Amino acid sequence: METSKPHAVLIASPGMGHLIPMVELGKRLLTHHSFHVTIFVVTTDSQTTTSHILRQTSNLRSLNIVVVPPVDVSHQLPSNSPLELRILLTMLHSLPFIQYSINTNTNLPPPSALIVDIFGLAAFPMARELGMLIYVYFGTSAWFSALTLYFPDMDNKIIQAHAEKHQPLHIPGCHPVRFQDNVEAFLCPGGAIFEGFLKAAKDVVTADGILINTWEDLESAATKAVREDPILGRFTKGGVYPVGPLVRSVEEKPEDGRAEVLRWLDEQPAESVIYVSFGSGGTMSEVQMREVAIGLELSEQRFIWVVRPPCENDPSGTFFDVANAGDMALDFLGEGFVKRTQGVGVVVPMWAPQAEILGHPATGGFVTHCGWNSVLESLVNGVPMVVWPLYAEQKMNAFMLSEELGVAVRVAEEGGLVGREQVAEVVRRVMVDREGVDVRRKVKEVKVSGEKALSEFGSSHLSLAEMRRDCQLHVQTCEPKVPA
Ligand code: UDP
Repeated sequence: METSKPHAVLIASPGMGHLIPMVELGKRLLTHHSFHVTIFVVTTDSQTTTSHILRQTSNLRSLNIVVVPPVDVSHQLPSNSPLELRILLTMLHSLPFIQYSINTNTNLPPPSALIVDIFGLAAFPMARELGMLIYVYFGTSAWFSALTLYFPDMDNKIIQAHAEKHQPLHIPGCHPVRFQDNVEAFLCPGGAIFEGFLKAAKDVVTADGILINTWEDLESAATKAVREDPILGRFTKGGVYPVGPLVRSVEEKPEDGRAEVLRWLDEQPAESVIYVSFGSGGTMSEVQMREVAIGLELSEQRFIWVVRPPCENDPSGTFFDVANAGDMALDFLGEGFVKRTQGVGVVVPMWAPQAEILGHPATGGFVTHCGWNSVLESLVNGVPMVVWPLYAEQKMNAFMLSEELGVAVRVAEEGGLVGREQVAEVVRRVMVDREGVDVRRKVKEVKVSGEKALSEFGSSHLSLAEMRRDCQLHVQTCEPKVPA
């Protein structure tokens, strides 16, 4: 065991959208920055999540992955509690196990840095007690990170004007956030979600550093603002490090082990297939799903569509771990849809190998809910998007991609039903129309800039190296405390 190297402990919160970026960060710290790495995986469903993750990291034996035994918080919350609350409570109840594991681990040097996402802030006291540096990892844009960092400093009158008069919310150095694109917390100032987010933001700024899964060239204004703006930096205690794009690497598989959908893609012409997926949890009403189905048919394009059972009133759904499709019936897509589209389209129930699909040369577009991992996976593969945001900060992402970067066209959801004609129209705008050519060219430029950021002298590589230096200094100057 090399005791001079820093040891980073990462805690991944429940949900594939939180787990994947944390694992990718852990891999990067291990392979490019010479850290010892332990990742605690907090999950609500140990079996599927564990096997999925272990499969993807099996070539990295020195990555120490510890799956935290699932805790059941259902009896502590009403059944209609928001997903965020369930995640926070699960994290809180997982901490005793994590602390015990850290204290009793003799295979690695005592941990010198803790890395958590916004759901893991309850681990701060433990880290301080153990003399660790604390980092918060935003698996989101620098723009959303800036909103969070600025939140504790915002004037109440400005927040009220935003909520009541729908005035744009100004963030120093960044594009203002339009009311219709902002996160739920700002709809109801003083409400439970607002207060919860405010408390989290106040905790975040006390961390020793903030890592963001983005890169300087993608968001030049926002990354500059979070790093250098005197107002944003006033409360942030530590450095801010853009470290992306860190996305799930594609699994190399022998031909017979490849998913059927990938073998189907092999038979399709280059950039001819539109991939439709609303993330690990996104769901829609049955009526909306039928409109998507007919819209895809009307578009006359080849497609792959990942579907899960309809959900009438919660777009964030409940399937936030890898879900099992079993023998899912697909009647809710409308009579005859699957049969009629055979050969032209593939419907994948519950879960598809997204990284592989987006990296396939036959994929030419992506209808996405704008979860940040999906966005990054599309960008690093140079795939243009149709953006259809559903919840969380996805509307901000959609604005950035369509209005600022020009790598996507946006669905006009406006709170109502998106009709079949519009579905067909946005798909054709990206796949067939002249507009799609420009969008495709721009996204390919972004792809190159992302590769550059991660290369040896790229901005994100250097940024993580800077964070590594702080951790090394910490190891040399402060002996981490290990309780007896
Ligand atoms: N994902 C996948 N297959 C699916 C759905 C999702 O592999 O069928 C992966 C996707 O590649 C991404 C993550 O799950 O890495 C979803 O994260 P994202 O931030 O896009 O959205 P969330 O699910 O958190 O809303």
